[in-house]
Amino acid sequence: MKKIPADASFIKVKCGDCSNGQVIFVKAASKVLCLACGSTLANPTGGKAEIKGEFVGVVE
Ligand SMILES: [Zn+2]
Repeated sequence: MKKIPADASFIKVKCGDCSNGQVIFVKAASKVLCLACGSTLANPTGGKAEIKGEFVGVVE
């Protein structure tokens, strides 16, 4: 599993349930849901969000 770089702001993750690819903010302040199936992709933690999907890459 690839590691999310510390300086990343936006990353692409793949939903574990439907394989939808979605760009999310690393420090999301609210829960991020998959736009395709509604599955949780990230949970807010106050800092870097807890990513539930598969990290695909950094979005420049
Ligand atoms: Zn999904």
